[in-house]
Amino acid sequence: MAPNKVTQEANRERARRVLDRLTEAYPDARCSLDFKNPLQLLVATILAAQCTDDRVNLTTPSLFKRYQAPKDYVAAPDEELQEAVRSCGFYRQKAKAIKRACQTIMDRFDGAVPGTMAELLQLEGVGRKTANVLLGECFNTPGIIVDTHCKRVSARLGFTKSAEPGKIEQDLMRLIPEARWTGFSHCLVFHGRATCQARAPKCSRCCVRDLCPFPDSREGKKAAR
Ligand code: SF4
Repeated sequence: MAPNKVTQEANRERARRVLDRLTEAYPDARCSLDFKNPLQLLVATILAAQCTDDRVNLTTPSLFKRYQAPKDYVAAPDEELQEAVRSCGFYRQKAKAIKRACQTIMDRFDGAVPGTMAELLQLEGVGRKTANVLLGECFNTPGIIVDTHCKRVSARLGFTKSAEPGKIEQDLMRLIPEARWTGFSHCLVFHGRATCQARAPKCSRCCVRDLCPFPDSREGKKAAR
């Protein structure tokens, strides 16, 4: 077998072991946004840009009560919708993106959030990350969700050398079995929040420490300061 084929196969095996450990460590790993249908999840993911999921979950109950269909968002006066999402930050841009996405859903998709990557990418405010959240949660189509935790933790685990979301997604898709892409993404988020944190990862109590190529590297730097 060629050397880089051996490396790739070894990496796949290591990635699967990491995934098994993380799945065991975080059995409740799931999407942290509250929603009951694809439209609610679409709106919540747009609001979640540069905002915490907890903050979004505090904002959406009254929002979802007031606006239940794409036509409701489209018909809402701009200032009213902006006020309703103000607490999530960047409220003017987010309100605009929600209205435009809903207009496209009405114009091109008969009022229903579409269920393919190509269609979702036609909606304002929806990139591959948001589309993969929707596909995985609402349409039973697994996807790698490249958010800030996924970027950081997958780099530390040596699963990617890239900082570019599209390339990271491709690298991880090659390592993880397709059926587990969405679950893997949620596990990385939970691990990133609980243990492999940005500033001071808790390597000494990490469940994948023995599978990580760079344990203690950031902890060591912090201790040396
Ligand atoms: S050992 Fe440290 S750097 Fe590696 S995954 Fe665990 S917490 Fe992150």
